[in-house]
Amino acid sequence: MSPGIITASYIGASALFILALSGLSNQETARRGNFYGMLGMGLALCVTIFGLVTDNQFLLIAGMVVGGVIGWVLAKRVEMTQMPELVAILHSLVGLAAVFVGYANALDHGTAELTDIEKTIHAVETYIGVLIGAVTVAGSLTAYLKLSGKIGGKPVQLPGRHLFNLALLLGSIWLGVVYAEQMFVDGGMPALVVMTLLALLFGVHMVIAIGGADMPVVVSMLNSYSGWAAAAMGFMLGNDLLIVVGALVGSSGAILSYIMCKAMNRKFINVILGGFGSKPAGTATSVVGDVGDVRSIEAEETAELLRNAKEVMIIPGYGMAVAQAQHTVYEITKKLKNSGVNVRFGIHPVAGRMPGHMNVLLAEAKVPYDIVFEMDEINDNFPNVDVSVVIGANDIVNPAAQDVPDSPIAGMPVLEPWNGTTTIVLKRGMSTGYAGVDNPLFYKENTRMLFGDAKDRVDEILQFLSK
Ligand code: NDP
Repeated sequence: MSPGIITASYIGASALFILALSGLSNQETARRGNFYGMLGMGLALCVTIFGLVTDNQFLLIAGMVVGGVIGWVLAKRVEMTQMPELVAILHSLVGLAAVFVGYANALDHGTAELTDIEKTIHAVETYIGVLIGAVTVAGSLTAYLKLSGKIGGKPVQLPGRHLFNLALLLGSIWLGVVYAEQMFVDGGMPALVVMTLLALLFGVHMVIAIGGADMPVVVSMLNSYSGWAAAAMGFMLGNDLLIVVGALVGSSGAILSYIMCKAMNRKFINVILGGFGSKPAGTATSVVGDVGDVRSIEAEETAELLRNAKEVMIIPGYGMAVAQAQHTVYEITKKLKNSGVNVRFGIHPVAGRMPGHMNVLLAEAKVPYDIVFEMDEINDNFPNVDVSVVIGANDIVNPAAQDVPDSPIAGMPVLEPWNGTTTIVLKRGMSTGYAGVDNPLFYKENTRMLFGDAKDRVDEILQFLSK
């Protein structure tokens, strides 16, 4: 394949990736965005396999088929609620690829024709690629283990951890200098191997110190790292497309991390330094004053309240995803709308377990976008709301974030259903949410608890509404 065709195809693929990102920024165009992304990746793979690779194509295609089948089976099997874990483990593969490419580069003796300065640049690219890759792989694997509950979600904070991190950073810089010098003498492998071990340790240590409600930021931050790892691979291999794609993923992940931090009123640096959610769940500080008793309600009375309301706000959370209640919730919405009730959905930016989780569920149930509102758009409307229905949500409607200064979630913006006339909370029991903090909303005068699996309860409500 001529270099001109390869370059033109790479530009075409880059344009498709940019279109994919812009499509994904809006629910209505997200499907198209995904399609552009797949098209771009297909083009990039074809051009690379048949235009750049000169031998062993059979081996390459066989590897891709095996990988593709594993990916297909895993993606088919994974539940929507396990998506963040899948994303975390996929990020670790990008990091692993960067480490392997780095080592292959370091062992490659095809640098004989390079000048000394070019060899040094090559060494620095290799070193940085392996460094970012190793941090990504270890950090992502730790995040996977935390998100899937295979290890505890609480932050693990070693004494003097900041000094430890600083020592790892300084050690990596020093080893980088050693590697760049030794590379001319004996290849510098010992320095590269020791740095890899330090970077792996850093990745584990960084993510293990982060806990509670900060995990969304960690997931998007690791997404960003995986992008930079891919960009580093692009530099190592001299592949422009990989640099462009890596930079797109890296910067979009960084922007997403920033948006998540803003949504949770957290400083990015504080997230990285860890410790959020380190207080044990249910400590005295996490409950406001005298909480009193909870008042429960049944589905029939809930249906009656909804039927008689003018303004209804539905607040979905992680529990709605677990129960897969979204389709029935939309059936209820349609019934109420047909009888003249104004039903809207209020979405918190970190509801569920991944960015946009609730939007995906509601889109799957075909809820029209014009009744779905972001927290910032809707929070001032609660005083006019007759009935708010909180479905499997907890942390995102916790008033302790505003009222309890030493609460682990203090300062995180939350939806404010307690400002409306009545709040009905659907959940199975009184357990805490992801951040492990008690929720004073459940004890408020105007809150009613509808206990049980969200799907069973909304089915019952629908039945009563249909009578
Ligand atoms: P929470 O995790 O705070 O609460 C979910 C609630 O749902 C639980 O209290 C649980 O109570 C209830 N629940 C679980 N299963 C069911 C069921 N089958 N039927 C009814 N209720 C059920 O979820 P939120 O959405 O309110 O908040 C999200 C949290 O997750 C935040 O802390 C956020 O920071 C964090 N997070 C978000 C990520 C993201 O990117 N969006 C990623 C990682 C973490 P019970 O057991 O009593 O039923």
